[in-house]
Amino acid sequence: IPHGGKYSRVLLKISGEALMGDQGYGLHPPTVARIAHEVKAVHDMGVEICMVIGGGNIFRGLQGSAQGMERATADYMGMLATVMNALAMQAALEGENIHTRVISAIRMDEVAEPYIRRRAVRHLEKKRVIIFAAGTGNPYFTTDTAATLRANEMNCEAIFKGTKVDGVYDKDPKKHADAKRYENVTYDEVLQKHLGVMDASAIALARDNDLPIIVFSLDEPGGFRGILAGEGTYTRVHG
Ligand code: UDP
Repeated sequence: IPHGGKYSRVLLKISGEALMGDQGYGLHPPTVARIAHEVKAVHDMGVEICMVIGGGNIFRGLQGSAQGMERATADYMGMLATVMNALAMQAALEGENIHTRVISAIRMDEVAEPYIRRRAVRHLEKKRVIIFAAGTGNPYFTTDTAATLRANEMNCEAIFKGTKVDGVYDKDPKKHADAKRYENVTYDEVLQKHLGVMDASAIALARDNDLPIIVFSLDEPGGFRGILAGEGTYTRVHG
C-alpha cells in the first residue's frame, strides 16, 4: 500500500460537525464550500474519491435516546441527518464542476441512488465523487463504521479522517500543552488506550481488513491534497 505517494482510490470521512463552521448547529454553506474545494484539489490529481459524512451537526441517535426516544428511531433520524449533509456536499461539489452521486443506504429514490456495489465502483471509475449517505442503514452503528465498510467494499487504499487536529494525540491537544502526536499507531493501541480515532467497531473492521486510517487536519487550507502527496503532519493508524 502506497504511503504518502500515489493513492488511486480513497475514502474521506468527515464528521457532520465539520460542516457547521463556528455555529453550534447545522450547515454553514461557506464551510461546506471550503471542504468541497479541498476535495476538488484531490480530484484534480486523478484520485478516485468516496466520501462519508456524519450527521452530528444535526442529530445523533444517542442524543435522542438520552431524551427518552427509542434508540433505533433516534438512530434512523441520525441517518436521515447524514442525507441532508450529503446533499449539501453534493451541491457544493457541483459548484466546483465535479460530477457526483449521493448513494443512500436507506432507499429514497427521489433524492439519492440506492447502494449497488458494482454500480458504485463504476461511478468511481468514471471519476465521479461518491457520497455515501445514511451510514450503514442500520441503527446502533456510526458513520465511522459506515466509512470503514464502504472503504473495504470499494477497495480504497486508505480512509482519510479529516478532523480539527493534525493527528492522534496521547491526550487532547486543545487541553494539554504537552500532548504528544503519534506518527504511527497500531489499531490495537488505539483500542487499548481508547485514543478516540473512531469507535471500536470501526477500528476493528479496519484492522481485520488491513485498511489504514490517516488522521489529518481539515483546517489547513490544501490539507487534504498535501496529505495525499505525503506532505504535512498526520497520524497513520495501521497493523
Ligand atoms: N447512524 C446509525 N447507523 C449508521 C450511521 C449513523 O444509526 O450506520 C446514526 C447514529 O444515530 C449517529 C447518527 O446517525 O449518531 C449520526 O452519525 P455519526 O454520529 O456517526 O455522525 P458524526 O459524529 O460523524 O457527525
